[in-house]
Amino acid sequence: MSQLTFLGSCREIGRSGFYLENKDESIIVDYGAKLSTPPEFPDMVPLDNLQGIALTHAHLDHSGGVPRILSQTEASLFCTPATRDLTLLLLRDMHNISKGRLPFTRKDIPLVRRQCQATAYEETIPLGHHFEMTLFNAGHIPGSSMVSVRVNGKRVLFTGDVNATESQLNLGARKNLPKHDIVVTESTYARRTNPDRVEIEKALVDTVIETMERGGTVLIPAFAVGRSQEMMCILEQNNIPQKYPIYLDGMARKVNEVLTRHPEYLQSPQSFSRAVGRTRIIQDNRDRTKAAKSGGIIISPAGMLKGGASHLYFKLLHDDPKNSIVLVSFQIPGTPGAELIRTGKVLVGSREYEVAADVRMHHLSSHSDSRGLLDLLTRIPGDPEFHIVHGESESCDKLQDLLQKKGRKANVPEVNEMIEI
Ligand SMILES: [Zn+2]
Repeated sequence: MSQLTFLGSCREIGRSGFYLENKDESIIVDYGAKLSTPPEFPDMVPLDNLQGIALTHAHLDHSGGVPRILSQTEASLFCTPATRDLTLLLLRDMHNISKGRLPFTRKDIPLVRRQCQATAYEETIPLGHHFEMTLFNAGHIPGSSMVSVRVNGKRVLFTGDVNATESQLNLGARKNLPKHDIVVTESTYARRTNPDRVEIEKALVDTVIETMERGGTVLIPAFAVGRSQEMMCILEQNNIPQKYPIYLDGMARKVNEVLTRHPEYLQSPQSFSRAVGRTRIIQDNRDRTKAAKSGGIIISPAGMLKGGASHLYFKLLHDDPKNSIVLVSFQIPGTPGAELIRTGKVLVGSREYEVAADVRMHHLSSHSDSRGLLDLLTRIPGDPEFHIVHGESESCDKLQDLLQKKGRKANVPEVNEMIEI
């Protein structure tokens, strides 16, 4: 008999973690952080007979606690080489801003490289005597995977974060998945319908061109991993005239180096390489001030205007109606980005700023929406039993409802719930 325990991401986004046991062996899939203050992690599990940890992708809500596990076991980490290198960047960044409130030290982070067995998509790897593991492309960010585990004659799929729709940066998730008995699925956008991607990209490019033509500067606050590179590729694909400079700030430049080393995970390595060649890198505050005055396009963290260099740009650009601030991802309620959309004002430090710049929302999603998820899940052969995680409580319930209406078995697990396989 085998057991699967849901360690986290139950009715929430954050601290994903799953523990699979069979007889005297076990494996872990994802071990992420919830980025609260201080960060929270899944409960610790026995590691005596751990045969490996599989990691779906680099985002910290999936990877943020991995060094804690690696520091206590000789077991290997299995993920794509792109996920390994992006995870290292994000872990170092989290460590720098965490002020020692993590359950591991800086010297544990390189274990991600040392204990990693880089794994290709579609390659089947035996783990111990009882498990076999295969990664399938998840289409969410470069290197992202769905993890399929065979145990006790059954097959269990962990979707991680998944996007079936192709973007200018990513190939879409693998279609035609093999038969599975159990599917643990994300539900981030189970209550949303994403607008057509081509239309959003067109609206985004129109905003950029209009701003350039009236002599303004565009600020695009964007996450360093994935979204910043997607912005670069969209601008490159749409032939933004060379006279308008494109700037890149923050960790995104290191992410570019990683993706340049791993072009096999990109929709078009040529387009990405042209986009990188066209982008000017920001080094310091002098560069930032110059860029803000240049009448160009600035891509900078943080994606929801939550600190990072985007605060400095915001202060330099907010009061001129010629400029634009373009938000390109979901803005979590309570963040400066969400307040900007809702009220036209932003609190930075203790000062509230009225914004005269043109504020636009062109939301590009890296998750499948309700239709996309349902389509992907109901096509998996074998009439699997679904366990829904990684969404707000209402989103988990919504996906359960949608699946049950299609006659499927669907459960929303609680933290530390265990099921027999
Ligand atoms: Zn993710």
